[in-house]
Amino acid sequence: MTRMIAIVGAGLGGLMLARVLHVHGIACAVYEAEASPTARTQGGMLDIHEDSGQLALKAAKLHEAFVRLIHPGGQASRVLDKTGAVLLDQPDDGSGGRPEVRRGELRRLLLDSLPVGTVRWDHKLTSVEALGDGRHTLSFAHGGSVTTDLLVGADGAWSRIRPLVSAAVPAYIGTTFVETYLSDADARHPASATAVGGGALFAMAPGKGIFAHREPDGVLHTYAALQKPMAWVAEVEAADASVALARVALEFDGWDRALTALITDGETAPVLRPIHALPAAHRWDRIPGVTLLGDAAHLMAPAGDGANLAMVDGAELGEAIAARPGDLQAALQAYEAKLFPRSAEAAAGSTEVLAICLGDAAPHSLVQFLDQAKGAT
Ligand SMILES: Cc1cc2nc3c(=O)[nH]c(=O)nc-3n(C[C@H](O)[C@H](O)[C@H](O)COP(=O)(O)OP(=O)(O)OC[C@H]3O[C@@H](n4cnc5c(N)ncnc54)[C@H](O)[C@@H]3O)c2cc1C
Repeated sequence: MTRMIAIVGAGLGGLMLARVLHVHGIACAVYEAEASPTARTQGGMLDIHEDSGQLALKAAKLHEAFVRLIHPGGQASRVLDKTGAVLLDQPDDGSGGRPEVRRGELRRLLLDSLPVGTVRWDHKLTSVEALGDGRHTLSFAHGGSVTTDLLVGADGAWSRIRPLVSAAVPAYIGTTFVETYLSDADARHPASATAVGGGALFAMAPGKGIFAHREPDGVLHTYAALQKPMAWVAEVEAADASVALARVALEFDGWDRALTALITDGETAPVLRPIHALPAAHRWDRIPGVTLLGDAAHLMAPAGDGANLAMVDGAELGEAIAARPGDLQAALQAYEAKLFPRSAEAAAGSTEVLAICLGDAAPHSLVQFLDQAKGAT
């Protein structure tokens, strides 16, 4: 029997599900709001963990191709205090188990692994109607509609599918990341490039931090983390780029110049990312014909896990469906039985990591955490 499996959202989670279904010979359609694969830059590096994201890539039969995307040296980590003193400098010796790749290249790998036409671009979901028998009718911004036997919400933080299963809404956690970029850093911003080193830089004091990453082409990608109310976020967002950068830099007054230059020398308008999260133990009762994965299911503070978890969810859901060809409800039940405890544990861990990075003991708390993590590998 042919069933209509619809995945809403072509992020890493939705695409991973589509790929694993394809590996098992199961067709599906992915409905994506963006107009094309290149509609939005997919900036940033992701560390893909041996015990989660990489297992999903193996299930998708894409691990070998993934290895070819790894940015050598990207797992190096440095922790600095606000004076620029280096408290920890861990080179990338290849033993970290969390190699770095560009998000855009990973997404491209998944997209290219799907049959042509699987992803329906420019299909922004605007409403969903539950038909009461496990089927749902999806309506799109351009006017089309489709009826599903299985609906998967892989549509990220502000999921339109989530309300079908849960009343939970993401809440602002009080921390905002401000994103800036410097290009050609070794030539044009040598002090900042040296401070960042070959991989990740964490420079913190209680309540604030500058987190930066070296990308393969000499780009330094920075998140300045601040604990601020949403009213502050709105004011800075409304300001001109140079005023906004100055407002953010003011929060780091007195910090080492190589660190603050990651903000003040920013070459693009700063992007404010107020961090929202769902309740850590978010779960729902089994509703026929619909489930969630990735951020739609378990949006949490960034701690290097979200993309990895989204891919694990996608791979496990694909395998659960393939293992129970005649019984979607049993497949969803099996998937969710593993999803809920995994997400709750990761969400609790992400809160802990944020406290380690921005709490009263920062930056020494992070030095201790990274030392212990290294000792455990
Ligand atoms: C500042 C920051 C830094 C982060 N850094 C890391 C990191 O280093 N490592 C890591 O593992 N994770 C990181 N994360 C988390 C990670 O980005 C997410 O957890 C991950 O992208 C979730 O994947 P997803 O597939 O669930 O959702 P998304 O990647 O959000 O994909 C959802 C897709 O659904 C589409 N969509 C949304 N609404 C609709 C609609 N109505 N109709 C159709 N399509 C729709 C969107 O266009 C999008 O393509 C970070 C997050 C933030 C905010």
